[in-house]
Amino acid sequence: MFVQPAPNPNSTPAVMIEGANSVGIPIFENPNGRMMESDGGASMLDVIVHNGKRQSVFRSYVFPLMDRPNLTVLAHALVTRITFDKKRATGVEIVYNNKMYRIGAGCEVVLSLGAINTPKVLMQSGIGNQAELGHLKIPPVQHLPGVGHNLQDHFLIYGCVWEYRQPSVIPNAARAVLFWKTDRNLDTPDTQIIQSDGGRVKTEMKKFGLANDS
Ligand SMILES: Cc1cc2nc3c(=O)[nH]c(=O)nc-3n(C[C@H](O)[C@H](O)[C@H](O)COP(=O)(O)OP(=O)(O)OC[C@H]3O[C@@H](n4cnc5c(N)ncnc54)[C@H](O)[C@@H]3O)c2cc1C
Repeated sequence: MFVQPAPNPNSTPAVMIEGANSVGIPIFENPNGRMMESDGGASMLDVIVHNGKRQSVFRSYVFPLMDRPNLTVLAHALVTRITFDKKRATGVEIVYNNKMYRIGAGCEVVLSLGAINTPKVLMQSGIGNQAELGHLKIPPVQHLPGVGHNLQDHFLIYGCVWEYRQPSVIPNAARAVLFWKTDRNLDTPDTQIIQSDGGRVKTEMKKFGLANDS
C-alpha cells in the first residue's frame, strides 16, 4: 500500500513535532511500526495519496488482482449468516440482487465486516451469548459471551480555533500526530493528538465570530 507524508507541508506540523520533542516526546520518521508499538512519539502523518489521487484499500490491495481466476468480487452482496456443518464453518449465506445464495468455502471463511457488523453476523450465525441468541430465537452453534460486547468507543475533541493574522491559503493534507500516555503507568499510549489545520468551521463556533458551516 502506497503511503507517504503529504508533499510540500506548511510549517505548522513541523512546529508541533518540535514542540512535542521539547517536552521529551521522541520523534519518529513516520507513525507506523516502531512508533505504534512504542511508549509514544510524534511524527508527520502519512497519507495514501499517490500522484494526486487518494488510494482506497480496495484500489491498493484488491484491484491489481482482479483478473485472477480465483477471485470474485460481488459488490452490494450482503452476508447474512455463516453456514456450519456442526461447528465447522462451511461457507456463507448472502443476499445478492434480492436473491439468497449459499456459497461454500473451499478452505476457510474470513469475516472482516467492521467493528459492528462482524459480531452482528457472528450472532446471526449462532455464535454469541446463548441467552441473548435465545431471545432472538437464533439456534446457538457456540456459546461465546464476549461476541458483541466490549466495543471501545473513543471521543474526538476539536482543540484550537484561531484566526490567521494575514489571510492564508487553506493548507494541504500535511498533518502531524503524536501518541502519549495520560498516566505513565499505562502499558500503551491512550491519547492521540492530531494537528490538522483547515477550514473546519461549525455552527457552534459562531460564538467566536466565525462563519457558517463549511
Ligand atoms: C471517521 C473515521 C476516520 C478514520 N480515520 C482513520 C485514519 O485516518 N487512519 C486510519 O488508519 N484509520 C482510520 N479509521 C479507522 C479505519 O477506518 C478502520 O480501522 C478500518 O477501516 C477497519 O477496517 P476493516 O476492514 O476491519 O472494516 P471496515 O473498513 O469497516 O470494512 C468493513 C466492510 O464490510 C462491509 N460490510 C459490513 N457488513 C456487511 C455484510 N453483512 N455483508 C457484506 N459486507 C458487509 C462494509 O460495507 C465495509 O465495506 C477511521 C475510522 C473512522 C470511522
